[in-house]
Amino acid sequence: MEDWTIGASDSAMNSHNPIYTVFNKIIPPAQFHKPVLSLVAGDPSKCSDFQVHPAFVEAVCDHLRSGKGNCYSHQHGSKEAREFMAQKYSYDNIKLTFEDIIFDFGGSGAIFTIVQSLLNPGDNILAPSPGYPLYESMCQNRGCEVKHYKLKPQENWEIDFNDLDALVDDRTKLLVVINPSNPCGSVFSRDHLLQILDWAKRHRICILADEVYEYLTFEKPFIPMGSLTDEVPVFAIGTMSKLCLVPGWRCGWIKIYDKYKRCGELRRGIENFKSLVAHAPHFMVNAIPQILTSMPEGYSAEVSQKLKQRADIVYQKLSGIPELTVIPTEGSIYSMILIDTNAFRDIPNSEVFAEKLAAEEGLMLLPAECFSSESGFRIVICNPIEVLEDSMDRIKEFVKRHKIANDVEDNN
Ligand SMILES: *Cc1c(COP(=O)(O)O)cnc(C)c1O
Repeated sequence: MEDWTIGASDSAMNSHNPIYTVFNKIIPPAQFHKPVLSLVAGDPSKCSDFQVHPAFVEAVCDHLRSGKGNCYSHQHGSKEAREFMAQKYSYDNIKLTFEDIIFDFGGSGAIFTIVQSLLNPGDNILAPSPGYPLYESMCQNRGCEVKHYKLKPQENWEIDFNDLDALVDDRTKLLVVINPSNPCGSVFSRDHLLQILDWAKRHRICILADEVYEYLTFEKPFIPMGSLTDEVPVFAIGTMSKLCLVPGWRCGWIKIYDKYKRCGELRRGIENFKSLVAHAPHFMVNAIPQILTSMPEGYSAEVSQKLKQRADIVYQKLSGIPELTVIPTEGSIYSMILIDTNAFRDIPNSEVFAEKLAAEEGLMLLPAECFSSESGFRIVICNPIEVLEDSMDRIKEFVKRHKIANDVEDNN
């Protein structure tokens, strides 16, 4: 009999996440004289200083034991949990009801639901550069385009509205705003958020507010987009992954801020789409009210304080290096460092920077190319302090070895 093989669908073959594609090229030596360090994974649970609070574990165990989460639930999650979230995330300008809350399979499940329910092939969305790569992957998979608008690093990574104006067209369905930002570590001011809402209102485009790092801010307050919206529908994304530091629990949510009920059809579309699959685990959703009420006062301030301490180390260690530009982190679990590629002998772009850094220093991090950008790299700061310090020293050594000025010194 002739041999036979099984093919994959076009959709599956067109699915890829740039993080994985690039990551596979960042290979440290098999045998290295120092421990190999990685600042790649945005997963706080891997660091002993960012472990889950025991009260959250207890809440999940209680709800698992109760047996009440053993059955199927409504596709958007149980009414009690949705009512709790509606109340928690209502603001003076807008009151949510349980119908405005949709639980999903992590924050990425929530984003997938919106992309699948809102976009037709040929539509496009506007997403930030640098920005979280999942938006691009999910749109490609749907036959849609992502148009990347630029953020201005020297102005706290604020949006370049000229760029937005140039990109928007009549097939643009969504503006993605990531605040606090992965990978930039920036936190937008109230004024800037109002400018963004104003722009969206003029163009009649709704906003996906990726706010998974809500409350992880250092000095500037986090201001939820939904609390400022009047005319513009906002879909705000949250997740246990980052709020409670447990990416493995796979539970996220969408909050729909839609004062003038512009999203009636979209809501029906979401309900249809979610009748196929994509529920958050029932017992996990049930546990959320208990988790959030058991969250000790000062919990996020304490986590943020630890993050700030680490962001300061990155800043202190790297800000004196002329070939790099460090924009101080204001929130989230990341620092984005810019590279002046003209200042290096043999590093034409940041992908090469990351590859050589892994090969020569045994240090892995993701280059800007993973985030629809160029000339930079992302550092995950929720790592042990000694790992961060060691890593920054390795970057320093690496830059010293590769910078152009070194050739001049060698000639002396
Ligand atoms: C982590 C993350 C998400 C979603 O994460 P899940 O683990 O799927 O909940 C969404 N957006 C950004 C910007 C993130 O960093």
